[in-house]
Amino acid sequence: MGSLHRVLRVAPAVALALAACSATPAGRPNVVLIVIDTVRADRLSGYGYDRPTTPHIDALGERGVRFSNAFSTSSWTLPAHASLFTGLFPIEHGATQERTRLEAGASTLAEILGAHGYATFAASDNPLVGPGTGLDRGFDAFVETWRGKHGPRHPEPDRHANLLAVTRFLESLEPGRPFFVFVNYIEGHGPYAPPEPQRSRFLAPGTSPEAVRSALRRDAVGYYLDPASIPPAEFAVLNDLYDGEVARVDALVGALVDALEQSGRLDATLLVITSDHGENIGDHGHFRHVFSLYGTTVRIPLIVVLPDGQRAGEVRPEPASLVDLFATLLAQCGIEPPSGATTGRDLLADAGDASEAPIYAEYYTPLQALGLFSPEEFAANRARLSPFLRRLRSVQVGDWRLIAASDGSHELFDLSSDPGERRNLAGSPSSLERERRLAALLDAFVERAGGAPPLPDAPGTPGAAFGDLDPESARRLRALGYVR
Ligand SMILES: [Zn+2]
Repeated sequence: MGSLHRVLRVAPAVALALAACSATPAGRPNVVLIVIDTVRADRLSGYGYDRPTTPHIDALGERGVRFSNAFSTSSWTLPAHASLFTGLFPIEHGATQERTRLEAGASTLAEILGAHGYATFAASDNPLVGPGTGLDRGFDAFVETWRGKHGPRHPEPDRHANLLAVTRFLESLEPGRPFFVFVNYIEGHGPYAPPEPQRSRFLAPGTSPEAVRSALRRDAVGYYLDPASIPPAEFAVLNDLYDGEVARVDALVGALVDALEQSGRLDATLLVITSDHGENIGDHGHFRHVFSLYGTTVRIPLIVVLPDGQRAGEVRPEPASLVDLFATLLAQCGIEPPSGATTGRDLLADAGDASEAPIYAEYYTPLQALGLFSPEEFAANRARLSPFLRRLRSVQVGDWRLIAASDGSHELFDLSSDPGERRNLAGSPSSLERERRLAALLDAFVERAGGAPPLPDAPGTPGAAFGDLDPESARRLRALGYVR
């Protein structure tokens, strides 16, 4: 109910703001928003990784503003993208693991920019980001590049379906009209099977093709049914392949930016590169981005390149959230956010005392992820799987991070001495007061949103959370490990 109340309250203000500003003054920047799906911050060389995974993105960081402490609002694609598009947290926009659709209500970036004269275009390689989940709202054209009609996967970066789609859009654009382009690249998402040369780039010398094939057969279902089934050596191969995917998506981003530059439009463009969430590859006893809110799954890269090289090389260490990009982008376009429509802040404004600003993330009851297990598998493994039937919320202030579950359990980490979140300090007397204060922040966060929706009925056997799927969507979601 909380999100619905908020949406109803916001809608008239949005309508007024849009009516008041129908013409587009010259001089507004183009906006290109690139999401590199499932790429965790600590795997980019520009974020301190010791492998040279991301030379192109690192170079963009040097041309713009790099946020070194950026976080998603969730560890899952749909709620994170919905936050990006609406400036609202999952508890407010309501598109979660429990309700897999962004319902009409809160205005999206594409709607607002479109109403201010922008041509709006999206190319998405992730079936969760598109018409099936309501995330296409407001775009003049939304190309689902994962669909077969866009041709087979091509190993050459300058033949990638996203690049071809964006190039066609730019060619069709009327001269002088500002544009908003959103692109989702799925490469970082499992299975980690990049083409050469990235496939072999980070594998340990002597890794056999059979070891790679075996690692690539692993999925989350098999892992959670039997965590011992993936030995550490195989997780090492999976980590190397994941780094290869990060390098692959880096090359794709480089090719897209080259194309923008060649079109003569880059200098007038505000370019954002970020991710929707990270990934566990054996970290914390998890595989893929389910059932957890550790930093591995919510710390993301965030780089904003401003037009004409403004503020090149700036590094911002204060915490930043995906939810802030809505206000940030609108401010850069000279558009006042609809009153009350965003909980985020303009990241490019003076940070003030933002270094201690709380950072929140949410994970809802994973009906979708647990729907991957057959009723028989779930029944036979109830003791192992049913603890995952819960919501999680996290809050970080400074170096302290609390993850609170709807079953009442807490995990508390002191990131200054334990950045990998390995020592749970919840309940320890020396940090009890801190734990209490962080828990109170989470309670206030929920209250501000008007309360959380009721927990779903605890299902004996979770079903798939997706409604009717067309056969091609079902096939693609199966390949990504979302449905069976
Ligand atoms: Zn994702």
